[in-house]
Amino acid sequence: MRGKLVVGNWKMNGGLRQNDGLLADLRAGWVAPEGEELAVCVPYPYLWQAQAALSGSAIAWGAQDVSEHAGGAHTGEVSAGMVAEFGCRYAIVGHSERRAHCGENDATVAAKAAAALGAGLTPVVCVGETLAEREAGTTGAVVLRQLDVVAARLGDRVAAIVVAYEPVWAIGTGRTASPDQAQAVHRTLRGRLESIAAAAANVRLLYGGSVKSDNARALFACPDIDGALVGGASLKADEFLAIAHA
Ligand code: PEP
Repeated sequence: MRGKLVVGNWKMNGGLRQNDGLLADLRAGWVAPEGEELAVCVPYPYLWQAQAALSGSAIAWGAQDVSEHAGGAHTGEVSAGMVAEFGCRYAIVGHSERRAHCGENDATVAAKAAAALGAGLTPVVCVGETLAEREAGTTGAVVLRQLDVVAARLGDRVAAIVVAYEPVWAIGTGRTASPDQAQAVHRTLRGRLESIAAAAANVRLLYGGSVKSDNARALFACPDIDGALVGGASLKADEFLAIAHA
């Protein structure tokens, strides 16, 4: 049985004072129904703050990226081991903004997923097609290629990841994939995971891309959608909690 998971991605937003309010409101407003999980992935400098505010609560926290390297001469990078020291459960890897703006390719994303797992974190591996790829009818091929490279790198450990399907054209645009569109891609991903290993069939598949409280319920009702990766709407406690309660 796969539990539902909702993960907030703050992106490069926040500030000490506003984080205090947001984290306190989330803590006060979330009583986890059985089998459901809520998490926030915050910028690195705020990991200590998330840890202080959320320790002992039912809300997990994590990072938005990790280095593929374990340590050494990689100025500006942050290792998965460092992130794990702040009590993180999750690390997003392969977000489309990092693929598009930071030159990350499928192999980099696979190496980051391996690094996260190696440090005891659960990687939330993002996959998704651009609008041009969707219009060219290559959505399935794109997301399977992205997943396959990660699966090949991880072997049996692929069963321990979370996958987030995030169509690039739906991220931060207010344009959401319809439940049917999202379910179709999730079914494709699930089929591939099932064929890789029986244990991988239960990998949680999140949908991401302009999820709001008014569209979450219909998305979560789809059989292969196990929750959401939420960007903009995760910065408002009421809205994020409403998505989680959906
Ligand atoms: C994201 O950043 O992963 C995301 C899904 O953003 P938004 O919800 O704002 O579209």
